[in-house]
Amino acid sequence: KSAEFSKVLVFGGAGFLGSHLCEKLLASGKAVICADSFETGRQENVAHLISNPSFKIVQHDIQLPLDLEVDEIYNLASPASPIHYQEDPVRTLKTNVLGAINVLELGRAQGAKVFQASTSEVYGDPHVHPQQESYWGNVNSFGPRACYDEGKRCAETLFFDFHHQHGVDIRVARIFNTYGPRMRPDDGRVVSNFIVQALQGKDLTIYGSGQQTRSFCYVDDLIDGFVRLMNSPSPLRTQPFNLGNPGEFTIAELAEEVIALTGSRSKIIYLPLPVDDPRQRCPDISRAATELGWSPRIALAEGLQKTIAYFEAQLAQAQRARRIG
Ligand code: NAD
Ligand code: UDP
Repeated sequence: KSAEFSKVLVFGGAGFLGSHLCEKLLASGKAVICADSFETGRQENVAHLISNPSFKIVQHDIQLPLDLEVDEIYNLASPASPIHYQEDPVRTLKTNVLGAINVLELGRAQGAKVFQASTSEVYGDPHVHPQQESYWGNVNSFGPRACYDEGKRCAETLFFDFHHQHGVDIRVARIFNTYGPRMRPDDGRVVSNFIVQALQGKDLTIYGSGQQTRSFCYVDDLIDGFVRLMNSPSPLRTQPFNLGNPGEFTIAELAEEVIALTGSRSKIIYLPLPVDDPRQRCPDISRAATELGWSPRIALAEGLQKTIAYFEAQLAQAQRARRIG
């Protein structure tokens, strides 16, 4: 399809990552349709885009088919934090599996490229470190994380099979823990929890010993990787791509860093480790570096500072609203 008729559908566009993606696509001159059920996403994430005539919002559940004229589809629709995806596990599976079928059928009908927001969770509790795309993973199919992990794995399989069987032009990004402004303060993810706790002078809650690791990518770096992958001419473009920051930190180190950057007097407390919590996670990003010329630029301290500033403003706003109310 021609580059000038560039209509992009972003499913899950009112969420944390989706709202940043909508912004970036609009800035590059595309027309953007943001489709969302608003389960974990928020109107306020995209409120500043509504006045843009190239931007439209559609309330839609991805479990149901959607018929639209589009050139590109990004599928980000899924609850993403453990507390949200475990709330209704069967619904999480349906969102991921039926959602993948619906976006792929739409891509097939429209001749549109379809991008899947997959996850490092496809590697489970990995026995290979750092994780390369060729690693098959170590996932428990019946634990509390399975609805998300297996839903995302099945979605990947659907993407690869629609590509092989029906010639759909696909992209699959395996996203490692990403943080930044517009995360929800209440979604239980570690970066938002620690920052909100530190700013409110509450204890920081480390689950387990705090020696488990994660690799944290700032949102702007990740979204740059999404667009590079979508536009890539690489012969590997229909293979899975790890996108994440290979800087690996223990959760205890993250807690110390957040306390230092906020200047908080909060203490650290230790709570039980959730079942099947992966012990280590770090992306091998050589494929993205070689094929997309991509690597993250924003170091953890810098990204945390921007995220802290966002939560400070959010908490101040909530306090003002309480005073007025
Ligand atoms: P988010 O919860 O902020 O965004 C998800 C969006 O999908 C929300 O706007 C939500 O309302 C919408 N949604 C959920 N179910 C839907 C349904 N049935 N129909 C339509 N919309 C629906 O989370 P996020 O962090 O922005 O994650 C976006 C995507 O990236 C998710 O698919 C997630 O699995 C994936 N991902 C995120 C991370 C991360 O660290 N943020 C890591 C790996 C993968
Ligand atoms: N975690 C923690 N305290 C919290 C929230 C999370 O110690 O308040 C830990 C969690 O057990 C996991 C890591 O931080 O080991 C990352 O958790 P998150 O839910 O952000 O992402 P995921 O486990 O999906 O990578």
